[in-house]
Amino acid sequence: MGWTGKLLHVDLTRGTCERREIPTEILHAYLGGRGLGVRLMRDFFRLDPFDPDMPIIFAVGPLCGTNSPTAARLACVSRSPLTGTIYDCSAGGRFAWRLKAAGLDAVFITGQSAHPAVLAIDGARAELLPAGSLWGKGVKETVASLKERGSVTAIGPAGENGVLFANIMMGEGNSIGRGGLGAVMGGKRLKAITVQGEGTTPVADRERFDAARADVMRLFRASPVIFGELGISEYGTPALVDLMAQRRMAPTENFRATFFADSGNYSGPAIKRECGAKKEGCYGCPIQCKKASAQGEALPEYETVNHFGALNGISDLHAIVRANSLCNELGMDTISAAATLSAFGEARGRFPDASEVASLLADIAHRSGDGALLSLGSRRLAEHLGHSEVSMSVKSLELPAYDPRGAYGMALAYATSNRGGCHLRAYPISHEILRKPVPTDRFSFSGKARIIKIAEDVNAAVDSLVACKFAFFGATLEEYGELLTAVTGVEYGPEALKAIGERIYLTERFYNCENGFSRKDDTLPERFFTEPGSGGEGIDVPPVDRERFSEELQKYYRIRGLDENGGFGGRNILEELP
Ligand code: SF4
Repeated sequence: MGWTGKLLHVDLTRGTCERREIPTEILHAYLGGRGLGVRLMRDFFRLDPFDPDMPIIFAVGPLCGTNSPTAARLACVSRSPLTGTIYDCSAGGRFAWRLKAAGLDAVFITGQSAHPAVLAIDGARAELLPAGSLWGKGVKETVASLKERGSVTAIGPAGENGVLFANIMMGEGNSIGRGGLGAVMGGKRLKAITVQGEGTTPVADRERFDAARADVMRLFRASPVIFGELGISEYGTPALVDLMAQRRMAPTENFRATFFADSGNYSGPAIKRECGAKKEGCYGCPIQCKKASAQGEALPEYETVNHFGALNGISDLHAIVRANSLCNELGMDTISAAATLSAFGEARGRFPDASEVASLLADIAHRSGDGALLSLGSRRLAEHLGHSEVSMSVKSLELPAYDPRGAYGMALAYATSNRGGCHLRAYPISHEILRKPVPTDRFSFSGKARIIKIAEDVNAAVDSLVACKFAFFGATLEEYGELLTAVTGVEYGPEALKAIGERIYLTERFYNCENGFSRKDDTLPERFFTEPGSGGEGIDVPPVDRERFSEELQKYYRIRGLDENGGFGGRNILEELP
């Protein structure tokens, strides 16, 4: 129970859709979502991201289809054209729920369609439909045209045109972001997927499930980060704007500074006041951390307001909201788009002003004018301009809105992340800033190697359940293990889940190492080792100590069982894994 044991195998070259079995031992060992997708990539991870045979996989988890809090989510997995690493991203919404209700744990899409196509899934039936009339259309129009067919996920012009940070947009406004999987989908000429399904997900032990769910809800209610006066349910992730300003770690003007005097213009309370923000959220989630304007327009997340704001020196909230909406409509990642504009601004000696941003974003999506170069992301742009130092990225993924000089666990986690400069692989902000589950000294590397390793494993398990990481501001793997056990009838405690997370992490690391990644890639942009951040109000933000960073990285490798170069010492770990 919990799994359907089926995936839909779609070959766009041959135009075929067929249901296949997924071996039970693989489901038990990798759960679903990120873990299942990563396992299914085993025979394909060496392919170029744009090779027609490169799969793109959408996978739900065993909790999806039940009323486990935050579990109506899926993960999308492929190889990123931006970073070259294995890549996954999760997103919430009805699409995931309906995929499970159609009797599927995953959709595995390979090949390349001769013409633009839509994959339409309706219960046991799946077919490829022509989508020539939708090609070139924005996300809203595409979703509106297909909504009679159920839930929709689609790419916009950015994905069609191969922008390396193109998103796949869920019809309800969430995005599969950051690593450019929208461009992988566009390369296959797959404009959208629709899904309708009416099946239900049985629960093996209803009494145990209800007790575990009640525990999760109690912990949510007790969490100040979730339901507190200034928590994410009230203000969304922009609740972090004031906190990051107080901590002097809000990336500003391409990370040349860490404090932006006008950040109050786009803080959580300011957005609520100016945009009449109301609560929204992923299907079935009690937290409802997303916010929409009175007119129903999706409002930006913390990373987006900071990067279209401080990172580009822009203080106009309405310009930031417009930039967010435009990225969603064109199907582009807001963090990478804004960070690439910021790198461009530093290289040319002038950050874009608020009135210039919209036209630059449109140029990126259509790869016209300066947009042709900007569409490649900051690392390639900076190298092309002869200023590689202005790309604030790790493994070519632009860094989000937590300056690593203000949180050393974050510094290490950016470096070790298997998908490049990402805050969510280990999310040390939880303990370094939000003091959950216990506070750690943000200006110390001491103990961080072990903490980051454990957090990476935990988050790999969470991404495979698939649950939302924000749930873990309140709950723990203990309660989610109980939910999983109750749904599936298979006993999963927190240690078993961590072991699954470790298996997934090491598989990803192995794929990356086989594709040429090593210790040389596990580092930070030079600026963080040589320039201080913006101190003030008794806080000093010095450069990161390079020697301590290297020592902690070596310690991390030892704890992970890796060699000094961050590799596997010639071992093929895939032979040891299910
Ligand atoms: S907490 Fe927010 S992002 Fe997470 S599932 Fe709920 S609404 Fe979605």
